[in-house]
Amino acid sequence: MSITDIFIIISASLIGILYLLKLRSYDIYEKEPFYKLLLMMILGGLVSVFVSLVIYVFIPVEHNLFDAIFKIGIIEESSKLFALVILYLIIKKDFNEIVDGIMYISAIALGFAVIENISYCFNSEEPFLLLFNRSIFAVMGHISFSGYMGIAFYIHKKVHKNYIGILVSLAISALAHGFYDGVIFHYELSSFFQFVFLGLVILQFWLLRTALGFSERRFKLNEALFNTANTTLFLHCCHCDKNIQSKELNFRKIKAGQCEHCGYYVFNEESIYQLLKYFCPIKNHKRFIKNLPTHNKILTLDENNSIRFNMHTKHLSADINALSAFLDYCNTSDKERIFKIPVIGFIFKYLGLRYMK
Ligand SMILES: [Zn+2]
Repeated sequence: MSITDIFIIISASLIGILYLLKLRSYDIYEKEPFYKLLLMMILGGLVSVFVSLVIYVFIPVEHNLFDAIFKIGIIEESSKLFALVILYLIIKKDFNEIVDGIMYISAIALGFAVIENISYCFNSEEPFLLLFNRSIFAVMGHISFSGYMGIAFYIHKKVHKNYIGILVSLAISALAHGFYDGVIFHYELSSFFQFVFLGLVILQFWLLRTALGFSERRFKLNEALFNTANTTLFLHCCHCDKNIQSKELNFRKIKAGQCEHCGYYVFNEESIYQLLKYFCPIKNHKRFIKNLPTHNKILTLDENNSIRFNMHTKHLSADINALSAFLDYCNTSDKERIFKIPVIGFIFKYLGLRYMK
């Protein structure tokens, strides 16, 4: 093994670890232990690549769209699923929310991509250029194919027998994988590559946000969540229509103050985004705020007038329990709305999400 080969292995692995850290940052409610994700990346990568290689001995493939979907896609995606099934014992104890399904199958997909990158780069004239390219497209590609299977598998293990969901997820993953490879194999289709790639990545983020929306590990918003910091915040209470000063109360990235006159919690624009991101993860937050009706300066968001938003200062003041109920309501309606989206809603439903409350 040459020095170049060793550098290839080290760089490809480090890139894999960076992706793993990024992936883990999306696991916002109950982060999986890093060493378990790493273990799944290494073992899952080895198992899935090994299984794929064994199958390829018996099923030769050609580089065309048909083989990309019906051979490469099915073989490689079912190998990843197989790795998740046989390595399940390692993660059994931690596998307790639907997002974990995406986390662990993505770790396996990441391991697969890292090993594939190393082997391609060993045989390349320009290994580091190839590694750079593959670290963007092939790695993100592999992660974006597989999340569906993680969701279906979680539901099967923890919620409801879900053989149909697993089959649906395998079909979607194989299709995604096949289309990705197919547009690379066919020169005349190569101009579609960016669209296919971007579409698959966007879909995966959509799936992730939906899974977060269905998570069982989200806290309910309440006063006890907040810690008091030593910083002073300057805010505008929309109930008293006054500028206020308050000690900072924080929960994760959400910062609030408490109005000294009415006692309501007050949030600035950034913290409203953070609130929505944590409590209503399916929602498109920027669009939600942009679409609020702007004809009044003060917007009341509930019947009892205990949640108010000031369109000018972009601050929100609220009774914390009313806000909690409001955010719950938003998330529940987002969960129902997702099923009404043509095609996507149907797929998400039959992945098994229909069994989730
Ligand atoms: Zn007030």
